Amino acid sequence: MSDLHVVIAGGGLGGLALAQGLHRAGISVTVHEKDPTPDFRNQGYRVRDNSDGITALKAVLTPQAYEVFAATAGTPGARTDVFDHRLNLLDSQEFPHAPDLPGGGHLAVNRRTLRQTLLSGLHKAVHFGSRLTRYETNRSGTVTAHFADGTSTTGDVLVGADGVNSATRKQYLPQAQVVDAGLRMLYGKVPLGGAARRDLIPPELLGMWTTVVGPQLRFLGLAPVRYREPMHQVTARLAPDIALSEDSDYLACVFGARPDQLPCTDAELFAMQGGELRAVTLSLLKGWHPRLIDIVSRQDPASIFPVSVRTSVPVVGWETSAVTLLGDAVHVMSPAMGAGANTALRDARVLASRLVQAAGGTPLLTALRAYEAEMVGYGYDAVRESADRGHQLLGQNPLPSLQR
Ligand SMILES: Cc1cc2nc3c(=O)[nH]c(=O)nc-3n(C[C@H](O)[C@H](O)[C@H](O)COP(=O)(O)OP(=O)(O)OC[C@H]3O[C@@H](n4cnc5c(N)ncnc54)[C@H](O)[C@@H]3O)c2cc1C
Repeated sequence: MSDLHVVIAGGGLGGLALAQGLHRAGISVTVHEKDPTPDFRNQGYRVRDNSDGITALKAVLTPQAYEVFAATAGTPGARTDVFDHRLNLLDSQEFPHAPDLPGGGHLAVNRRTLRQTLLSGLHKAVHFGSRLTRYETNRSGTVTAHFADGTSTTGDVLVGADGVNSATRKQYLPQAQVVDAGLRMLYGKVPLGGAARRDLIPPELLGMWTTVVGPQLRFLGLAPVRYREPMHQVTARLAPDIALSEDSDYLACVFGARPDQLPCTDAELFAMQGGELRAVTLSLLKGWHPRLIDIVSRQDPASIFPVSVRTSVPVVGWETSAVTLLGDAVHVMSPAMGAGANTALRDARVLASRLVQAAGGTPLLTALRAYEAEMVGYGYDAVRESADRGHQLLGQNPLPSLQR
C-alpha cells in the first residue's frame, strides 16, 4: 500500500466508484457520506449505463463485482424513439453497438442495486452519517475535512463527490453556478411483474428510452428495467459476499413540464404524496393517447417523487490544489441525454488512474491537474450537449453564458 491517503466527501455513484478503484489499487481511502444509512432516501430508479459508464465500472470494480453489475442489469437494446402524444412516431435512433461490452454498451441498471454493488468490499472505508461542512488546507499540503458531528479527518487529497449541492464546491469554487433548468419532473415506476402486465405495454414503448412529446412541451419518458435472473441467484453464482436487495421488473415512467404548466406552485408540488403527484400528471395528459394515460395510471403511487432539474454553468480556469471535484458536484447536467451518472463514473475511472500514478511517484498536483484538464473537457461538453437537447426537445432554459 502507498502512503497516499484520499478522503472522499459523498458516497453516491461517483464517490463509491472512485473508492472502489483506489481500494483495488491498494490506496488508502475513506468515504464520508451524509446519509445515515445506504437506503436512507429515495435514490431514484433506472440508470442507463452507456459505454463510458460500463468501461469505468470495468476498470474500478473487482472482476467479481463487475460480473455482478453486468448480470443484474437489463439489456434494453439501443433504440431510442420520440413519439407525439397521439403515439405517432417522430424520430427513431439506434445507438452504436459495442460488441465487446455487455448489452452492446447499453445497460439499464437499478440505482439501488448498482449502489449496493459499489459498496461491496468497502464497508470499513465508508462512514455513513458523516456530512462535510468545510475543509482547510494545511501547511504540509494536506487537507483536513470537518464534519457536522464535530469530527475531522486529514488526507493528502479531498475529493468533493458530494453531488449537486456540494459543500466542497461551494467553498472551493464559489463562483461556480448551479441554476434551475426550468423543468420539473415526476419520477415513478410502473410494475411489469408477470407476462399479463408486461403485455399491456406495447413493444414499441419498451425500447431503451422513449420520449413522448405533447402540447406545451409536456413530455413522458419511458424506460424498462427487466432482469434476466433473480439477484440472489446472481450473487450465489458469482460473488456470495455481495448482498443485493431483490427487485422486480418495472418501467421507469417520468412526466416532465415547465413549472408554469403545472397546476401548483413548487412548494405545493414538493409537499405532495404519490397519489396526488400521479393525479397532477394525469390532469395534464388530457387528449393524450389512451395507452399513455393507462401507463401513467398504473404508476405505483408510493414510487412517485418530484425533481427540480438543475444544471451547472461551465466554469473555466481554477488553480489545481489538493482539493478536487467529481460528478454532479462539478458538472451536474440536464437528464436529457442520460449522461450524468455515466460522466460521474468516467470521472471516477480517470481520477483513480491519475491517483495511482501519484502513488507511484508522479507529483500529486501534476496528477490532479491532468485529471481536471480531461474531466473539464468531456464533463462540460456533456453539460452543454444535455442543455441543448433539453432545450430543443423538452423546453429547458438555454444554458447561461460561460463563466470566467
Ligand atoms: C431521478 C434521476 C434519474 C437519473 N437517471 C440517469 C440516467 O439514466 N443516466 C445517467 O447517466 N444519469 C442519470 N441521472 C443523473 C445521475 O443520477 C447523477 O448524475 C449521478 O448520480 C451523479 O453521481 P454523483 O456521485 O456525482 O452524485 P450523487 O449520486 O448525487 O451522490 C452524491 C452523494 O453525496 C452525498 N452528500 C451530499 N452532500 C454531502 C456532504 N456535505 N457530505 C457528505 N456527503 C454528502 C449525498 O447524500 C449523495 O449520496 C439521474 C438523476 C436523477 C435525479
